[in-house]
Amino acid sequence: EAAKLDKKTQKSKEMYARAQKHLAGGVASSYQLRDPWPIYLEGGSGPRVWDVDGNEMWDFHNGFGSMVQGHANPIIGKAIADRYPKGTHFAAPTEDAIVVGDELARRWNLPKWRFTNSGSESTMDAIRIARAYAGRDTVMKIFGSYHGHHDTVMVSIGVPYGEIGDKDDLKSLPYGAGIPDATVQMTVAVPFNDADAMERRIVALDKEGRKPACVIMEAAMMNLGVVLPEPGYLEAVREITKKHGIVLIFDEVKTGLQVAPGGATELFGVLPDMVTLAKGLGAGLPTGAIGGTEEVMSVVEDGSVYQVGTYNGNPLGVAAMRANLLDVLTPDAYKHLAHLNDRIVGGCQDVVDKYDLPGYAVGIGSKGCVTFAPEKVVDYASYKEHQNGPLADLAWLYNMNRGIFMTPGREEEWTLSITHTDEAIDAFVAVFDEMARDLTTG
Ligand code: PMP
Repeated sequence: EAAKLDKKTQKSKEMYARAQKHLAGGVASSYQLRDPWPIYLEGGSGPRVWDVDGNEMWDFHNGFGSMVQGHANPIIGKAIADRYPKGTHFAAPTEDAIVVGDELARRWNLPKWRFTNSGSESTMDAIRIARAYAGRDTVMKIFGSYHGHHDTVMVSIGVPYGEIGDKDDLKSLPYGAGIPDATVQMTVAVPFNDADAMERRIVALDKEGRKPACVIMEAAMMNLGVVLPEPGYLEAVREITKKHGIVLIFDEVKTGLQVAPGGATELFGVLPDMVTLAKGLGAGLPTGAIGGTEEVMSVVEDGSVYQVGTYNGNPLGVAAMRANLLDVLTPDAYKHLAHLNDRIVGGCQDVVDKYDLPGYAVGIGSKGCVTFAPEKVVDYASYKEHQNGPLADLAWLYNMNRGIFMTPGREEEWTLSITHTDEAIDAFVAVFDEMARDLTTG
């Protein structure tokens, strides 16, 4: 399968060689790399993309889950085209920002909002606000969760530098080089789906005079495939953080616009103190947002925290967000996504059952995956123990060779767009069926 893909992506190979000259590593971002070369895309329309070799594919990658609207959505296109002749950047407020703020407050039940330009900026600013509000420095996160590329959260994600440690004393490990150890040690990780471990660690840190300012987490872990919260877990986390006066941040960069009108917060019915958004919000434009309670956001309102950025609330971005939120991602759009996701999860689970594969299908909103593991994955440790990486890699090759565009990372999941159809779902399930049949019949 790998040789087959190499053969049909020769123009990508050439571009990669050309790109090496002045792009570091031949790409714009390290997460665009894959062996032996990245696939260079040329365009996309609705649920389809095509690469520079002319391979057309159903897009289940969707820009790491940013393109829930589908590619080149005409409503978003009109909003951008209407804005452009009136100027795209002033670093002064425009009316669209007010409308978007109102709509986000309505959807998330959190009254105060600010804008950013990416998921990383959202989590970076939210953590600063939480630290200022709580008057403490330590940050608690879930071991294995990704929250962007700033130093505070590039901790305890993969385990490139050693063992994880005991679950009550998980190590703080840098994710890649260049992160100061003092920063790494200020971030403490606990396992997902274990509220008791969180409580014990908070009490232990408090005794050391290092009580966390905030817990930043995803309501469902979205970078080990999809790991759903066990019943009662999020409620317990809410109780614990409230009891200890710790700001609870739901990082909804991957779940915010993709799973329900009000994201995972609405879906699971647990209200955090802050949420962070990005992917899916600006319909492919680099935008993000932070929402919070009156109390927590008071440190921005009274001027003690600078939440700033030249491009925050950029007119083009807020115009896209406004159209996206009001005219594209409507309640009916989420119903369509739920219908399609039920079908793809159900179809994949049928294949797993039919061929008795070691795994299970799991989904949330527009997103999901087949987790290749004989046991249910509930946290990072169980993912490491059970996940069958080679099978995940093979599934990716099968997809790419049969017209399904997916992220090469084992940890990612599919994202559907509102332009996907039953035909796209059938195509995906058919490829999975073919792989399962080939595997079981040798
Ligand atoms: N938080 C989560 C949960 C994410 O999945 C990501 C990106 N994968 C980020 C933050 C960072 O977003 P960005 O890449 O836009 O900086």
